[in-house]
Amino acid sequence: MPLPEAFDYAEPDGMELAVGDQVAAPLGPRLLRGVVVGLREATGGNRPLKPVDRRLDEPPLPANTLEFVQWAARYTVDNPGQVLAIALRGARAPKPRPVRLVRPTGAQPARSTPARTRVLEAAGQPAPAAVLAQAAGVSAGVVRGLIDEGVLEVFEIIPEASFDAPDLSRPGSALNASQAAAAGLLNEMLDEGGFNVALLDGVTGSGKTEVYLETAAHALAMDPMAQVLILLPEIALTQAVIGRVAARFGVQPGEWHSEVAPPARRRVWEAVAAGRCRIVVGARSALFLPFANLKLIVVDEEHDGSFKQEEGFIYQGRDLAVVRGKIEQAAVLLASATPSLETLRNAETGRYRWLRLSSRHGVAQLPQIELVDLRSTPPASGCWLSPPLVQAIGETLARGEQTLLFLNRRGYAPLVLCRACGERMTAPDTDSWLVEHRYSGRLVCHLTGFSMPKPERCPHCGAQESLVSIGPGVERVEEEARQLFPDARIAVFSSDTMFDAREARRLVEAMTAGEIDVLVATQAAAKGHNFPMLTLVGVVDADLGLRGGDLRAAERTFQLLAQATGRAGRRDRPGKALLQTYAPEHAVMQALQAQDRDAFVAAEMEERELAKLPPFGRLAAVIASGPDLVQLEAFMREMAQVAPNAGGVEVYGPADAPLALVRGRRRKRFLVRADRGVDLSAYMATWRARVKPPAAIRVAIDVDPYSFL
Ligand SMILES: [Zn+2]
Repeated sequence: MPLPEAFDYAEPDGMELAVGDQVAAPLGPRLLRGVVVGLREATGGNRPLKPVDRRLDEPPLPANTLEFVQWAARYTVDNPGQVLAIALRGARAPKPRPVRLVRPTGAQPARSTPARTRVLEAAGQPAPAAVLAQAAGVSAGVVRGLIDEGVLEVFEIIPEASFDAPDLSRPGSALNASQAAAAGLLNEMLDEGGFNVALLDGVTGSGKTEVYLETAAHALAMDPMAQVLILLPEIALTQAVIGRVAARFGVQPGEWHSEVAPPARRRVWEAVAAGRCRIVVGARSALFLPFANLKLIVVDEEHDGSFKQEEGFIYQGRDLAVVRGKIEQAAVLLASATPSLETLRNAETGRYRWLRLSSRHGVAQLPQIELVDLRSTPPASGCWLSPPLVQAIGETLARGEQTLLFLNRRGYAPLVLCRACGERMTAPDTDSWLVEHRYSGRLVCHLTGFSMPKPERCPHCGAQESLVSIGPGVERVEEEARQLFPDARIAVFSSDTMFDAREARRLVEAMTAGEIDVLVATQAAAKGHNFPMLTLVGVVDADLGLRGGDLRAAERTFQLLAQATGRAGRRDRPGKALLQTYAPEHAVMQALQAQDRDAFVAAEMEERELAKLPPFGRLAAVIASGPDLVQLEAFMREMAQVAPNAGGVEVYGPADAPLALVRGRRRKRFLVRADRGVDLSAYMATWRARVKPPAAIRVAIDVDPYSFL
């Protein structure tokens, strides 16, 4: 429950509760699951406390996990109950259902037939009745007859994932000199023990995964109970890393993300709590698993914005990984080719160890990067691929190699407008344009999921066939590529065209196997994958991310494009990347072309330092929303009046949020900037406690915001 603090209950005689125990406790008329966070002698005199109903037959939450939950709630200015609910997600999932198997009892059949003999011969291993009948090549009736006679018996078991111990005798990958040096320093860090953070900083293709798998092997070998957590930003990447962990250690790791089925989730949760599951690969919420003896946390692609959870409990998974490491006295390894400025700052000042992998793995070279100035070589009218890019695709196809066309925009066209009256198609209750999707024939709001069939007449002026699609999405670029290269095998990689992780994996496999010539993809494909035959990356709109205008626009654009262009030319084939831009003189484009990350980082750091913005200052946001604008404005004025005065803190706003209307609710924001030394969480909690919003108004606090919408 989103309660601000724990409630007091009496401990019934003989129950002997301990901190971390899961219990059923009454709240109003209901019995709810709770966790014991503290025990103390009753002082007496007050009204009697309600007793705890019973202890649940569930693993207790380890003390470190409980401390982490409370720390995270305080830091994010959220309710501990909300965070605890995430930590208990596995415990609340349904238990795996029992499976019914049959086995011989030892009794002999009254009447023997060839079919019955075959069943008994096949019944050495317990199996479901249908499987046994199939193995023996008989009808289900024969097996049923033997069960009725008592020759076979039915019994139930609950299937348990084994989570066998990792096989540490397997050889690791052969490391090059640069990798081996990094792995050696990381092993030294583990040998020192305790809490330490390291940044593993290496260009795309330098082999960071091999290094951190060896670090994991060292951690697992040092302590026969040690547990390792590997966090990844995307489910599609989770799949790839699970395969590599299985190959390295000969066991399946625990898998943890939103697509894991609830019974499997419960098995992982219980095995992690019991210490049986020693390697977990998962998304950010795996941080809240009840680890018994966590010794190493790896955050792969640490710069990735997907580590920030933006809804419900708002938190930055990479930052909380460092906190969890501190509480567990574990090592934390942040890996990236384009580290976040926050992490680079910590590395520069020596708070984090900084390990740089200099060369690409094997003989691969970094791709050559060219800027295509769209002002001098524009695409043909109504097209999006410029002549230099079209020519490069043709040459790549002729060599039998692969092309990735990168555009971080889903659907067919980002905007549909009426030629007759100029009306822009927008969502009915939200400040956003509707995106046209040709595969589904619908107009979709990417923010809320609202969708409608594309109308035949303009809903505003009624003109027929007047609606035109403006701008490109991946589906439109795919259409253009098909027209240009009708014989090429072309596919789209985007969250709208793939339904689940399995389909994403199938597409990645097809690309790896060389069954696709041109892949048109959003950022989902820009991360982590290795396509050995990919030698050309075309960035359709390199300026796209720069237009957002928020704090991290340049940083994010640089990271995304460096990742995307880094896909080209792995193994022994040289790669090339073409960036289509209207602003080739922009610092981001210049740094990308020169492949000079350090120059870009230095320039960006200087700007942030002047403005005292992260990593040189801290930010927090307040986002309030409500159905009634007058009421919302009155509340925001009240909030502005009671903002605490504190040195080193500035409050900006209230202002309309850039998305001023979402799902029929008006939105307003405050932005708070604080010096590094300020306890910003305490400041926000104090402020929040001074107001009591009306029931219709929701107030969300975002500490270290990444989205400024
Ligand atoms: Zn119209």
